[in-house]
Formats: sequence, C-alpha cells, structure tokens
Amino acid sequence: MKTEKQKASHKKWILNNKDKIKEYQKKYILENKDRVAEYRRVYQNQYNKDNSETYNAYRRNHYKTDPEFRRKQAVRHLTQSRFYNRKIDLSKKVCQVPNCEEHGLIHHWDYNEPMDISFICKKHHLEIHSGNIPEGIIRHF
Ligand SMILES: [Zn+2]
Ligand SMILES: [Zn+2]
Repeated sequence: MKTEKQKASHKKWILNNKDKIKEYQKKYILENKDRVAEYRRVYQNQYNKDNSETYNAYRRNHYKTDPEFRRKQAVRHLTQSRFYNRKIDLSKKVCQVPNCEEHGLIHHWDYNEPMDISFICKKHHLEIHSGNIPEGIIRHF
C-alpha cells in the first residue's frame, strides 16, 4: 500500500514529467508496434464480445416486453424497404452532419413518419441521442 505522501509525490512527478512520459509512450509504441497492435486487437475483440452480448440481451428483452420497441422496429424495416424499392444503396450513404465523411446510418426523427430521417454516423448518432443536435444537419424527405 502506498501512503498518501507517496501518492502525492508520484502525482507531482507525473505532472513535472508529462513531456518525458509522452515521449516514452511514443517510443514504446514505435518499438513495440506488433505487441501494441496485438493488445489493441485482443482488447477490441473482448470489448465487442462483451458489448454485443449485453446489446443482444437488451434487444431480446425489449422485443418481448416493449410494444413501442416493436413498433419502432417495424418502422425501421418499412424505411429500409422503401429505400430498397427505390434502389438506393444505403451502404454508400455518408453522414449528413456538415463536414463529416463517415458512413451514415438511418436516424429516425419521428417514428410516425418512416421517411423523416437523416443519415448519421455512429459518433454523431450518439450526440443526437444524448440531445445535442449538430448544427446544419440535413434532414431529408
Ligand atoms: Zn437515431
Ligand atoms: Zn458524422
């Protein structure tokens, strides 16, 4: 166990040596590219696994118990089939937040209007769903 005093002096040391530490980390990453890549890969796999299990369970549970969720799913399918009928390739859609070039997925503004949607990337999707609507977003149909 570290004493409070040791902890404090360690903190101070980190503060005083920020650049040195950064430099060291950079060097370590450069010299251990394979190990770092492997570590990232393993970490990412585990992360995906953990999260997809939680997510799938969440979906399964929702589907059974939440009529609102079922209704939304039905609207999502309807929207997709309309694009399909118009031969619009959804895999080529780009996020409609200005200056974002990521792949855009369908975001529904209003589930009563199947075509009241925008194409939004994952990152901006999170923002929107946490209540931050990016400025200048294109809202279609
Ligand atoms: Zn959305
Ligand atoms: Zn985006």
